[in-house]
Amino acid sequence: MASSEVEFEKQITKNKIMKSTHVTLPSAPPLKEYIQEIYDIWNTRVFTNSGSKVLKLEEKLCDYLGVDHISLFSNGHAALEAALSTLDHKGEIITTPFTFASTMLAILRNNHQPVFCDINASDYTINPSLIEDLITEKTCAIVPVHIYGNMCNTEEIEAIGRKYGIPVIYDGAQAFGVTKNGVGVGNYGDMCVFSFHATKVFHTVEGGAVAYKNPALKKYFASHRNFGLIGSESVCIGANLKMSELHAAMGLCNLKHVDKYIKNRAICVAKYNDLLANTPGLHILQIPDGIKHNYSYYPIRITPDEYGFSRDDVAARLTRHGICTCKYFSPLVSQFSIYNHPLPVGNTPMAELIANQILILPLYADLQTETIEYICSKLPHIKNED
Ligand SMILES: *Cc1c(COP(=O)(O)O)cnc(C)c1O
Repeated sequence: MASSEVEFEKQITKNKIMKSTHVTLPSAPPLKEYIQEIYDIWNTRVFTNSGSKVLKLEEKLCDYLGVDHISLFSNGHAALEAALSTLDHKGEIITTPFTFASTMLAILRNNHQPVFCDINASDYTINPSLIEDLITEKTCAIVPVHIYGNMCNTEEIEAIGRKYGIPVIYDGAQAFGVTKNGVGVGNYGDMCVFSFHATKVFHTVEGGAVAYKNPALKKYFASHRNFGLIGSESVCIGANLKMSELHAAMGLCNLKHVDKYIKNRAICVAKYNDLLANTPGLHILQIPDGIKHNYSYYPIRITPDEYGFSRDDVAARLTRHGICTCKYFSPLVSQFSIYNHPLPVGNTPMAELIANQILILPLYADLQTETIEYICSKLPHIKNED
């Protein structure tokens, strides 16, 4: 390595350590692997328009995720909008309020009406026993979210979908690599959308994908993401939603390391669990049998009556010690002021309760277990001087 390169790598490592108490830190393959991967792009000058890197990444992701078809997009939100654009009429979409803004915005931007269903206290995913009551003649899809990589109750949700002939499109943005009884998350429902944003478990810097079973969609998505063009005419109201070759190259590099990233995350989660399980009022995720998780986030739910401190107390204390956390997802998307059909308070009581009690602690592939010890030592139930 040239000395400037050594300096550069050193600087990267230094930054990594300085940022060790951020709530998340993007994974990065060795820089020289990326440079090697993009080398031939300079010869071909194919920087975009579904070149060989995008096609290769689609193929490799089908293998990794164990799905029939994958179409890549410029980001997860674009993939979600593309998936929703396949619905044959406009109407109501049953979804969860406990999600990232993108889920609701994709529904609204496609001129659908979100109908919010409450969530489970155990895993924060949509509560399937409440879905049927929300179905009307206008319902045109169910969009559940595998939040934090926790898989929804796919059996019950899809049984309802089949009973009423309503498609199920999962927002699996946070669920890359998760499997249930060995079956990849992307196989459930009619479609599953992934995000490859830099902060996600697997990333292409910016990027996303739809996984699906219907082979006819391959051609539709190829056209949809490229202005709806087939030949020189737009045949659907598409847009420019393509992933570039440079982004796909990042994905090809990260894919080689993603098992290691997930393994390191698992070690971190085991460390947190070790230190925090059996703390009254502090609830950690229980991963059900048969699930291979991706450990995308470390949410703790704080019930103040038992714990003695509120979620906001805990967040403020950690901030004072230079530890970043986030109140993900508070407020609920249904409480956003841009959503102009505000729900009466108490309509999704469990989601409202959890939004006030949830806190995400730092978790990323490069996080050190010593840092986790430090973080946990600053929690308010541990007696410190302050
Ligand atoms: C990240 C995320 C998205 C959006 O993905 P982008 O790639 O950032 O556009 C959508 N839904 C959920 C639940 C997410 O976490």
